[in-house]
Amino acid sequence: MRAVVIGAGVGGACAALALTEIGVTVQIYEASERSADVSGWVTLGPSASTVLDQLGVGAEVRRRGFPVTRVTTTDTVSGRQHSFERFEETHRWPSTHVWRRDLLSVLRTRLAEVGVTSCFGSRVDPADVAADLLVGADGARSMTRRALGDHRDPTFAGQLICYGHSEHVLGELPEGVLHFWSRPDGVAGYAGHRGHGSFWFSRGDAESAQSATGQPELLAALADLPIAKLVESSRVSRPVALYELEPSGIWHTTTTVLIGDAAHAVSPAAGRGASSAIEDAVFLARAIRDSPTVEAGLQAYDRIRRPVAMHTYRPTPGLRVPRVSAAELRW
Ligand SMILES: Cc1cc2nc3c(=O)[nH]c(=O)nc-3n(C[C@H](O)[C@H](O)[C@H](O)COP(=O)(O)OP(=O)(O)OC[C@H]3O[C@@H](n4cnc5c(N)ncnc54)[C@H](O)[C@@H]3O)c2cc1C
Repeated sequence: MRAVVIGAGVGGACAALALTEIGVTVQIYEASERSADVSGWVTLGPSASTVLDQLGVGAEVRRRGFPVTRVTTTDTVSGRQHSFERFEETHRWPSTHVWRRDLLSVLRTRLAEVGVTSCFGSRVDPADVAADLLVGADGARSMTRRALGDHRDPTFAGQLICYGHSEHVLGELPEGVLHFWSRPDGVAGYAGHRGHGSFWFSRGDAESAQSATGQPELLAALADLPIAKLVESSRVSRPVALYELEPSGIWHTTTTVLIGDAAHAVSPAAGRGASSAIEDAVFLARAIRDSPTVEAGLQAYDRIRRPVAMHTYRPTPGLRVPRVSAAELRW
């Protein structure tokens, strides 16, 4: 079988690796250059590490990043604190915090090692692709989604976010812990590690993606928090508008399928988008392997992943987002 993957972001690269594992010949196209400077970072959940281990890159991703073992949230109005571990029962590793460019670099190096033909600097029109399987992993503004007849654009999630990174860490806060400070109109977060420095953000409600609310307001919201001490020594991003896409559209035809943000973009507030894309990759490959036809495989993938995506997008109050166990992710 020959597959083409459009997009070598985290989802597409993992899909190409997972499909190669089951014996599919894969070609991947990526619009940006291999050397493109990708900014920002992600915190991957425990299930992502399980998948990355299977794809032969888990150890290297964890070596480039650092473990996040706990999340602590402080309500800045009531002062109440809530804390939970970032380990999950069936998975070996906790969450991993990693620069996005490092994650992509490790995945793309692996693509070459396992013989995936990778074409960087190639923006592809899905209409021009002929393959037994076409995987649209081309992000929230996916052309592949449009080609399937779903012309929706992602919608503004009502918030702007500003990121900062400093070489210094906050000595008074434990490292490897994701700290959140919530307030009625936003949240700030921090994770520090002596070897990697401090990663922080300030996210706040905004009326529109072009709203006047900008960096000064988001930085002002940090005033009474420990993060305020880091702002001066930090590289601070411009405010980024956050978007989401309800996972209710067409996900597949007989030979074309969407994964990751192309199918179900959640706001980064959920902290799940990259992990979901990584999980999609392995569920897709398994469904293809275990089904009599590609179409049946794509139907099985949709049946398994859509309820999880729906629940991640708008969690049912009182119900936790269903966790994927290590057994479900094994070949
Ligand atoms: C500010 C921010 C912070 C986030 N933080 C987290 C976090 O902490 N944890 C987490 O789990 N998630 C986080 N997310 C979400 C996460 O980044 C996304 O869910 C994840 O990147 C989705 O991966 P993807 O591969 O589906 O899409 P993308 O990462 O968007 O990759 C799509 C790729 O397709 C390429 N492409 C697009 N069109 C074409 C074409 N026609 N031809 C060829 N290539 C094409 C693009 O260049 C891109 O490389 C964050 C998102 C944002 C915006």
